[in-house]
Order: sequence, then C-alpha cells, then structure tokens
Amino acid sequence: MLLGGLAAGTFALLRNSRAASPSKGKHFEVEKTDAEWKALLSPAAYDVLRHEGTERAGTSSLLNEHRDGSFLCAGCALPLFSSKTKFESGTGWPSFYAPLPNAVETTEDRSFLMVRTEVHCRRCGGHLGHVFDDGPKPTGLRYCMNGVALSFRPGSA
Ligand SMILES: [Zn+2]
Repeated sequence: MLLGGLAAGTFALLRNSRAASPSKGKHFEVEKTDAEWKALLSPAAYDVLRHEGTERAGTSSLLNEHRDGSFLCAGCALPLFSSKTKFESGTGWPSFYAPLPNAVETTEDRSFLMVRTEVHCRRCGGHLGHVFDDGPKPTGLRYCMNGVALSFRPGSA
C-alpha cells in the first residue's frame, strides 16, 4: 500500500513537471531546424524568437509605428496584433491590449525567479514576449512584445 502510494505520488510529480512547459517538444504548423531558423532570421530576431531572448528596452523601431496595419510574426508572417490594440505602455517595448483571434498561445514561464506568462506564435512557436494583467481597458491585459519578433504591414488592420 505504502509503496504503491509513493509510486503514484512520484508519477504525479513527473506529470506535473512535464505539464509546466508544454511548448517544449510541442509540434507547430511551421517547423524548421535550429540551423534553418538561424539562416532565415536576423541574429536579434533569432535570439528572441528561438531562444527566448529579450531585446533592450527602447530599441525597437516599432515603438513609434502609429500607422494603421498589422503586426506579423517575424518568423512565419502570421498576423498577430492589430494597430487598433497598440498602446503606449512606457515600458520601451511595443505593447498591445489584445492579440488577433487564434494568433498566439501562452505558457507559464518560471525563469528569473518569477512566474510570468510567456507568449508565443501559434503557428511557429516563436517566442514573442510576455503578457501581464496591468494593461488598459477593455481587456486589462498588457502584451509586452519584443519588436524584433514582429514585422509591420501597413494597411487596414
Ligand atoms: Zn510565427
């Protein structure tokens, strides 16, 4: 009985630790090898999208992008955010209060001794940034994105 209980407990722990990082080993619609991504992307975009790097605050040219249009994934060109949901967060990273439908997915990120919600592209799994619950109305969410992980396409968003 006791041994059986211990084994079941250990199994539950293993299952839980695996569930904590669902994007690792997960399959996406657009998949490439690490070498293929490296050849395709700029070094900065590769670091953010494929290795969850963070661009230096205030460095993105998209901070001052105020035209109507769509912000696309720099990895696979899936439209992720509309200019209609972009707002000035003052953080130094392009910020949005909502993604487009069926554009992004999230995972729990426990790195740097914090629990944050990581945001990645639904189609290629590329890391985009994090989402926080201190954003403006109507959602109250703040999608804090690395500009280098996005590209801008002007036009009706
Ligand atoms: Zn993508």
